[in-house]
Amino acid sequence: MDKWQELEAKYFMRTVKRLRVTLVRGRGCRVWDASGREYLDFVGGWAVNSLGHCHPVLTRAIRDQAGKLIQASNQYYTVPQVELAELLVKNSCLERVFFCNSGAEANEGATKLARRYGKLHLKGAYEIITTHSSFHGRTLAMVAATGQHKFQDPYIPLPDGFVNVEYNSIEAIKSAVSDKTCAVMLEPIQGEGGVNVPADDYLKKVRALCDEKGILLILDEVQTGLGRIGSLFGYQQYGVEPDIMTLAKGLGSGVPIGALMAKERAAVFQPGEHGSTFGGNPLACAAAVAVVKYIIENDIPGKVMKLGEYFTAGLLQMKQEFPFITQVRGRGLLLAIEFSTDIGEQITDACLERRLLVNRVKPNALRFIPPLIVTKSEIDEGLGILREVFKKWQVERK
Ligand code: PLP
Repeated sequence: MDKWQELEAKYFMRTVKRLRVTLVRGRGCRVWDASGREYLDFVGGWAVNSLGHCHPVLTRAIRDQAGKLIQASNQYYTVPQVELAELLVKNSCLERVFFCNSGAEANEGATKLARRYGKLHLKGAYEIITTHSSFHGRTLAMVAATGQHKFQDPYIPLPDGFVNVEYNSIEAIKSAVSDKTCAVMLEPIQGEGGVNVPADDYLKKVRALCDEKGILLILDEVQTGLGRIGSLFGYQQYGVEPDIMTLAKGLGSGVPIGALMAKERAAVFQPGEHGSTFGGNPLACAAAVAVVKYIIENDIPGKVMKLGEYFTAGLLQMKQEFPFITQVRGRGLLLAIEFSTDIGEQITDACLERRLLVNRVKPNALRFIPPLIVTKSEIDEGLGILREVFKKWQVERK
C-alpha cells in the first residue's frame, strides 16, 4: 500500500473495492501511477474519457472557460449551455434539453418527465417498465429502476413505480404494460449488466408497442451515446427514435455533465417543476461543446465502428485459442468477453500486473471500454497483453 491507499483506508466509506493503483496523470490512452508506472487504459473512467485523458481540445476549453465564468444560477442565460443544447439538438432526433451532472440525475429527470407526461396525457399513469440486468444509476429511484438485486436488496423498500422485466423480450414488456404504464426505459445495449446486445429488431418492436399503447420510449444512452457503439447515438443503428434520451459519461470526456433530451411533445416540464444548481454550468458545458464538436468533426463514431470490428476480430481469434473464453460480444468500443468460470478478478489482476487496465464487469466477464481515440496499435498492444495473460492462465490451470 502506498501512503494514499493507507489514507484512503482510514478516511473513506467502503463503497468500492479498489485495485491497488494510485493514478496521478493521464494522456491519450495512457495513465501513470504515483511511482511513475505507465498503464494502457482500456477502462477510460468507465466509458467516460471519450477523447482519452487530457485531450488538448478539452483542456483548452476548460482553461478558457475557467477564466471567464465557471458557475451561474440557471435563472440567467449562459452561452456554453445554449451552444451545447443547439449542438445536441441539431445532431439528434430530440428537440429539447435539460442539463444535469450525472447519468443517474439524467435518468431521474427522465423518470420525472415521463410521470409528468403520464399525469397530463395518460390519466395519471406513472409506472415505468425497465429490464433485468439494466443499470440506470445509484439514486434510490434509479436503484429501483435498475433490474439487479445486488443494487436493490440493501435498500428495500424502494420507491414504487418501476416494473423490471426480462431484457430482449418484447413479450415480457407486452405483458407488463397496463393502464398504469407511462414509459419503457431501456439501454440500447446494456453496459454495466455485462454488455448485453439485444436482437437487432428488439428496439423497433418496443418502439411499435410504445406507439400502439401511447406510452413513451426512454433510451438510456448514458453509456452507448456519443460515439461509443459506432454511431453518435445508439438509437441511430436500430432504426428507432426515442421520445426521451439521457446522456452523461462520454459527453464531457471526464468533466461531469449529464443531459436529458426529449421530443417537443414529451418535453412537458413547466418552470419550477425540475432543476439543478450545477446542471448546465458554463464550465462543464464549454467542455462538452469541445468534446461533441471534436467527435462530430472527426467522425469519431465511424472510426469507432471500424476499430470495434478490428478489436472484436482479435478477441474472436483468442476465443479460438483459449477454450475458457466462451463468448465475445458488444458493438463499437463497448465490448466484452465471457469466461466459462468466475476468473474475471484473477484475469483483471494479471492484466494490471502487465500494465493493462480492464474492467471486470461480471465475475465471469471482462469489459473493454477504451477511449474512443484508441489506435489500432494500442488495440494490438492490449490484445498482446491479454494473450500473454491467457497463455499463462492456461498453463497454470493444467
Ligand atoms: N445509465 C447507464 C446506462 C450507465 O451505464 C450508468 C453508469 O454506469 C448510469 C446510468 C449512471 O451514471 P452515473 O454513474 O453518472 O450516475
